[in-house]
Amino acid sequence: MNPLRLILIIALLLFASAFPAPMQAEEAKKPALRAGAATSVITPPLGEPIVGGFTPFPAEHIHDELHARCLVLDDGKTKIAFVVCDLLGIHRSVILEAKRHIESELSIPASHVMVSATHTHSATTVLGPTPRVYASDVELSDYERFVARRIADGVRRSVNLLRPAEIAFGSIEVPDHVFNRRWFLKEGTMPVNPFGRSDEKVKMNPGAGADNLVEPAGPIDPRVSFLVLREPSGPVISLLSAYSLHYVGGVGQAHVSADYFGYYSKAIEKSLGTETQDPPLVAMMANATSGDLNNINFREPRGRKAPYEQMQFVANDLAGKVAAAVATLEWADAAPLDARYRELDVKWRAIDESLLTWARETEAAAPRIGDKAVLPLAYAGRVQRLSRASPETKLPVQILKIGDVCIGTTPCETFAETGIEFRERSPFAKSFMIELANGYYGYMPTPRHFELGGYETWPGTNNIEPQASVKVMDALLEMAAEVK
Ligand SMILES: [Zn+2]
Repeated sequence: MNPLRLILIIALLLFASAFPAPMQAEEAKKPALRAGAATSVITPPLGEPIVGGFTPFPAEHIHDELHARCLVLDDGKTKIAFVVCDLLGIHRSVILEAKRHIESELSIPASHVMVSATHTHSATTVLGPTPRVYASDVELSDYERFVARRIADGVRRSVNLLRPAEIAFGSIEVPDHVFNRRWFLKEGTMPVNPFGRSDEKVKMNPGAGADNLVEPAGPIDPRVSFLVLREPSGPVISLLSAYSLHYVGGVGQAHVSADYFGYYSKAIEKSLGTETQDPPLVAMMANATSGDLNNINFREPRGRKAPYEQMQFVANDLAGKVAAAVATLEWADAAPLDARYRELDVKWRAIDESLLTWARETEAAAPRIGDKAVLPLAYAGRVQRLSRASPETKLPVQILKIGDVCIGTTPCETFAETGIEFRERSPFAKSFMIELANGYYGYMPTPRHFELGGYETWPGTNNIEPQASVKVMDALLEMAAEVK
């Protein structure tokens, strides 16, 4: 062979074999999991209406900023995003607007983005036009557009910050701060409800320490579940947790505040991160299933507390226990990601003719009953608007798979027993729920609770059919099986 030709062949062989090696090395170096997290401020302008009570009132002071806390995970093939917002609830249309930005700018599909509200009662409304509207699609206000944009920006910043990550899952039981708020009362002591009836079996928020209390009508769920992301053997990137506590409350008059959810995040960031950490650790507390659980120990009379005192106590105690548990976790460097999203054809709550008649008569009689008419009038309005609800609910439910962990979501104030049932029936041993996600549809008691009555079951507090929790559970379990 011509020596020149031989050299050429050898050179070609060397050239060809030069490529696979670096590509394999590249493959080996490529992280199985990456994570990034960022926090967007979503504090409203003063004067926006604070919702959560029966009558909205304008915000007069910002005690602490409201945030959309964002976490993006990437397994190399699939990205999923979590956004937990300091809001009472978020209308489906606001979230769809945020997801449109995210999908067009980052190519993360809407099905793989979860946006939820913490349920702080000291935020202003992003629930669509007030008063309560029963429509799956609405026009957005300026503040609602701002919130949608800030959610998308937080996700985009999280994508900018994606870096190799290890993941761990943990759960602890903290029964100290959750109490079932629905109680059976002694025979003959049930007060009259706004609909003029006293034949219900259960009272929501009875007098704490009152002598007519018999027992709670449902269980508590003491579980705190959490996912932690850290740089390989390095600083914590983010901690996403969920606990079934409605909110704590006890804020200053007309204050905007993130409630205990904000204090908890700060406490976690302080104990697991450092002040100079860049990018900073982002901690978030989503609401698990707390439709019937709150922070009031009904067995004892309630003591007086200074504003913000109780929420700080709860937040610091929970954060201390979660941070201590993080030290004991086992870390993995991979977690295949997947998600499913459906909009269910659950029906709006049916309003019968006799209830409509009651609503019209109540409105007509309001000037004569004066102050006593506030609650009946509120429900008379809600019942009539509910009878004119948009044809479809488009009720969003979602499953997010993070390795061997499964999260199921509902857009409702969901009862504790639903969260417990999901954990027990899920095909994943490590499962938990996040409520008030991807929309807001009011309370979702289980069918058993509709028989018992009480605030959460009243039409206008509950806006969807009594079988909704069963349909939601079926859909969640089906989707969980699909991603298993
Ligand atoms: Zn609530």
